[in-house]
Amino acid sequence: MIKITKHLRSAGRANPDSYLKNQADLYWDALNPTKNGSYISTSLISAVQKYRDLADNLDEDYVCDYAGGDQFIALVQRDFFDEVLAGSADLLRKIIVSPPENLDLIKNDIKNRFPDEIFFTLNGAKKVQSGFGILLSETIFNYRKFRSSAFCLRYLQNLSFNEVYCPYCGDKSVELVGITSTRDEEHPEKALLDLDHFFSKSEFPYLSISLFNLIPCCHTCNSTYKLTKEFGLDTHIHPFAECFDEHFLFSIERTLHGRKVAISPSIPNAKDLSVSDFDLRTRYETKRKLLKIETDYKQRAKYRKPKDTKNFIDYMLKDVPLKQSEILSECHGKAKRDILRSIDVYNLLRPRIK
Ligand SMILES: [Zn+2]
Repeated sequence: MIKITKHLRSAGRANPDSYLKNQADLYWDALNPTKNGSYISTSLISAVQKYRDLADNLDEDYVCDYAGGDQFIALVQRDFFDEVLAGSADLLRKIIVSPPENLDLIKNDIKNRFPDEIFFTLNGAKKVQSGFGILLSETIFNYRKFRSSAFCLRYLQNLSFNEVYCPYCGDKSVELVGITSTRDEEHPEKALLDLDHFFSKSEFPYLSISLFNLIPCCHTCNSTYKLTKEFGLDTHIHPFAECFDEHFLFSIERTLHGRKVAISPSIPNAKDLSVSDFDLRTRYETKRKLLKIETDYKQRAKYRKPKDTKNFIDYMLKDVPLKQSEILSECHGKAKRDILRSIDVYNLLRPRIK
């Protein structure tokens, strides 16, 4: 509901952009540990190098498992590996650490240079990963390994995602909780949240562990609504790039059957698919606590005595994020702010909501 850098600001990071860049640099180093000046065998660079050599040598198992038995395809895959390793693995580094806008350019560039078929095939409208696609997303750019890594947990803690609401929906909480039963002292906490691949793993398997392709979000958004839907920067709000709060407004609308919580674009060309793909209109329209805000306001504001104004304001603004940067910290934080501002005919609350 707000850009994650804004959330970081409310969590006390004075310069969120450079802070995130620093996190990405740490991440690259964590993926590529060295010993005596060389990358160790489990590093990302070594993994790419290893499979590059197998493809280049037309290793029988490699060609069979990852190139569908076709040597020509294996050599195209080798070219892909060569491309990402060129220089000092410059493209590989960019794939891992780039912000969303650059990831978008990288994937478009790779799409122009390499046939889609090496990564996936189409089964109707469904994209089915090829053997090579699976090799990339499950073995080389290994998301599961990242997810269980100490770096992942530390990173989410550093993002201040220990107790917030989902940046996609603002409806469900995401949290990092302590596990008391575990004996694993190295991983005393577990991240009870999903990481959505904004650009899909099936189409872009090499973006599986790109830091800014991973959106911390609630399980409902990821597993019930997003599923395999294709997201793009032109059509959807990327929480590391843009602010939902600046594209949409919540309000209370009259309907034939009563009232509902409504969501409408607040700027021309708002990225409407974010609302429809997460089914936010249906998920919000009957939220009683949000509808009650209007009823409470009407009842209490109208008959309030002047001396009760402070109590009234305190009551109405309880659990409401007064600053935009605090929106992720409260359940339905954005909706509450928008609704209060839209119904505040006495202009008592609006000046306090920044
Ligand atoms: Zn969500």
